[in-house]
Amino acid sequence: MQNKVKGTYDILPSEIKKWHFLENKIREITKKYNYEEIRTPVFEYSPVFHRDGELSDMVTKETYNFLDKGNRELTLKPEGTAGVIRSYVENKLYATNDLYKVYYISNMYRYERPQKGRYREFRQFGLEAIGSKNALIDAEVIKLSSEFIESLGLKEVSVLINSIGDDESRKKYQKALVNYLIPYIDELSDDSKRRINTNPLRILDSKDKNDQKIIKDAPKPIDYLSKESRNYLEEVLNYLKIFNVNYELDNKLVRGLDYYSEVVFEVKANIKNFGAQNILGGGGRYENLVSELGGPKTSAIGIAFGMERLLLALEYEEIVFEDEDYLDSYIITFDKKFNNYAATILNQLRNNNYLVDLDYNNRSFKAQLRRALNKNSKTLIIIGEDEYNNNQVTLKNTKSEEQVTIPIKDLLNHLKEELK
Ligand code: AMP
Repeated sequence: MQNKVKGTYDILPSEIKKWHFLENKIREITKKYNYEEIRTPVFEYSPVFHRDGELSDMVTKETYNFLDKGNRELTLKPEGTAGVIRSYVENKLYATNDLYKVYYISNMYRYERPQKGRYREFRQFGLEAIGSKNALIDAEVIKLSSEFIESLGLKEVSVLINSIGDDESRKKYQKALVNYLIPYIDELSDDSKRRINTNPLRILDSKDKNDQKIIKDAPKPIDYLSKESRNYLEEVLNYLKIFNVNYELDNKLVRGLDYYSEVVFEVKANIKNFGAQNILGGGGRYENLVSELGGPKTSAIGIAFGMERLLLALEYEEIVFEDEDYLDSYIITFDKKFNNYAATILNQLRNNNYLVDLDYNNRSFKAQLRRALNKNSKTLIIIGEDEYNNNQVTLKNTKSEEQVTIPIKDLLNHLKEELK
């Protein structure tokens, strides 16, 4: 027997209902806000992700990189944004001068230590609005995100928001932060020691207890914002008020990827016993990624949600999914010798677009009945000796339990009536 790859899992048909629920909610909300779906390849040439200056652990340590038979360096996508931007640039979509609003639902790959809710293959729903810098778009993305989480049935949804400013503000802030941290350098965790030279902002995000103590009194990005960045944040907050979004300013929020600038945010809900996992999605504005991938300087914004985490949240909150699967009818036969008769009926009903199935293993009546009820079949078509000999079937309504024995030629009409 072969086992699944560590950190992956199968989504069996018995589990698919909740995925469909989630995907339907995603299609509804993105349609409402006029985002179109994009599907980019699962692998890209490595430099799409491994760009100069992208020093996040996710990209430097956790990607699946390999050479194909032509010795090309490829990487399985660890996140959705870079592939979308590669496609945006390659297809010269910037030339339309329009705002490009897209969403994706895709598998992602990260070589992480697997644990509950963390996998090496997982799924994200994300969206990007590329091509313009306008606080109204930031507010729209945030509003869509919180409305989406609410539509799943989760409670007390709120948004954490911060600004890390434009390039100039970030440079000034980084300097102040490093100056503050240098006296503590020996006390910092190894990760933070490393980041002090590569990406000091990420130290604010450290989960290490001692780092957190040191960071508590560190300078805050908000105090170093340029006038433009400060105004931009105020504008976003103003629109959030108009949109009735519940938000909190969070001075320590920086987000994992290195390409963000200006506004960054996370969406959370109050989920019983969920701890830090109550952060369901996060994103922010990015100004440099389009140009890093060969396009003109273009402002964009995006957010991504981990779909496994969303489903886990729904499970903790005991949210039930409607059972969408059903059959119009299930054919039950009492003997192998009725198989041709059953196949003819099956074919006729399917030709008339009814959802019908039967038992392929000629099992006992009881087993066939159980299967029919399991599949939420609205009716049963029963074929026994008498029915077979007289060109009839017995049609039974599984809900009312009423049944009639009718000539086969009347079956379509009867079934139509029963299913009304
Ligand atoms: P990130 O792209 O790191 O900002 O992650 C966005 C969301 O994706 C997170 O909030 C997680 O819910 C989810 N996520 C990230 N890594 C994994 C993983 N290895 N397994 C499952 N979900 C993940």
